[in-house]
This record gives sequence, C-alpha cells and structure tokens, in this order.
Amino acid sequence: MPLYDFACNDCAHEFEARTEPGATAPCEACASDDTRRLFRPIAPPAKIGMRGLAAKRSNAKRAEREAKRRGET
Ligand SMILES: [Zn+2]
Repeated sequence: MPLYDFACNDCAHEFEARTEPGATAPCEACASDDTRRLFRPIAPPAKIGMRGLAAKRSNAKRAEREAKRRGET
C-alpha cells in the first residue's frame, strides 16, 4: 500500500500512514478518525520564473477558463 501524508482535524497532528488509495488513516496521536490527506506537491509551482507579459497572459487564460467553468455549472 502507498504511504500517504495525513493531518488530523482534531489535534492538527501530521503523520504518515499506509492506506488504500482514497482511504484515510486514524490519527496516531489522538486516534481520531477525522483526518485528511495532505497533497504534497513534488514539483515547484510552474509560475516561478514567469514574469511580465507571460504571467499576465497566463492569468488571463486561467481567468477565462474559470469563467467558462462557472458558466457551465
Ligand atoms: Zn489527532
């Protein structure tokens, strides 16, 4: 089973546990079932190094996509 990072919603403890994909693990500090998966980005954000016009263009495209998505739902 894959190793995932979890955070406890009750005591904010962070821990690693092996679970089925999509499942959550009980907190190892307080045994609460109210935990959530943490998604740790592997690659740095793509926007690093993007400046000026390129960044503006990217933002405009993203805004356009988001507007479209809002319109569809
Ligand atoms: Zn906890």
